[in-house]
Amino acid sequence: MKRILITGAAGFLGSHLCDRFIKEDYHVIAMDNLITGDLRNLEHLFKLENFEFYHHDVTNFVHIPGKLDYILHFASPASPIDYLKIPIQTLKVGALGTHNLLGLAKEKKARILIASTSEIYGDPLVHPQTEAYYGNVNTIGPRGVYDEAKRFMESITMAYHRFHGVETRIVRIFNTYGPRMRLNDGRVIPAFIGQALRGEDLTVFGDGSQTRSFCYVDDEIEGIYRLLLSDYSLPVNIGNPHEITIKDFAEEIVKLTGTDQKIIYKPLPKDDPMQRQPDISKAKALLGWEPKVSRADGMKMTYDYFKSLPDEELYKKDHKDFKSYNRK
Ligand code: UDP
Repeated sequence: MKRILITGAAGFLGSHLCDRFIKEDYHVIAMDNLITGDLRNLEHLFKLENFEFYHHDVTNFVHIPGKLDYILHFASPASPIDYLKIPIQTLKVGALGTHNLLGLAKEKKARILIASTSEIYGDPLVHPQTEAYYGNVNTIGPRGVYDEAKRFMESITMAYHRFHGVETRIVRIFNTYGPRMRLNDGRVIPAFIGQALRGEDLTVFGDGSQTRSFCYVDDEIEGIYRLLLSDYSLPVNIGNPHEITIKDFAEEIVKLTGTDQKIIYKPLPKDDPMQRQPDISKAKALLGWEPKVSRADGMKMTYDYFKSLPDEELYKKDHKDFKSYNRK
């Protein structure tokens, strides 16, 4: 049985990856420090023999007994609100955490895939974004802690590949959504759905002309799975190229939820990218991958998930007080 370590396992993507690799009959070693992750996302796996969980912060030395075939490094805050609240942890997990996991990959002769992001393109001046684009990032802006940690992550990963011959994979993940997103993490999809369910107005930031391209989680996981098993070590965009303005998207949510919420406008956060759409030619050619789930179907499944949560979840500010972590 192949053994795989998944960091950030209690998070949105991490927990879906655990499910996928359990389904493929791997022994899954899940790791999370539970700052932004939630064990409820993994509850259903604890009874399995081929699943184990370590409560550990990967910015400290990572020790795993026994052999290891693969590592997926998905630990990181991933919402703009989170990295404003825990900026140092965001930098550390992308930089120090990646360093520790590359060291572990080298030691175990394991293949490692790291979760990079469309954020490395910053507020892009090239559209759609191909992997060859170097990006337009404000190093000292509020998003800099995430963007630069992820850029460093790519650099150190390539260095371990070139210098130590570690087998590495880099996925650049574009906006992804689906069940198990945190309801109050501030990202646009849980924000809009939460507002609709509470009967509040939908808050569009700026004039809503900025665009995003949303990928359903099952498609994203399939792309990551194929990339891990491929023999390609340069970065690959995995996302859905179907682009929409945030204003039009808010209108879609009003229709989907059947509520008569008004759309109200709030100031645009600093350095909020104006447009984002992945060029996925590389993923298509290399992996034979492209997204299959339409936004209408994906959003319906996501809405049904949020609707099924207990009412009190809807009114929680967030599931955790981050303040204590900032002292560490
Ligand atoms: N956004 C919005 N209203 C909200 C939350 C977000 O209009 O309540 C906008 C945000 O300004 C951005 C887009 O939606 O332009 C996507 O935001 P998100 O935080 O989901 O992720 P990003 O792609 O910016 O990392």
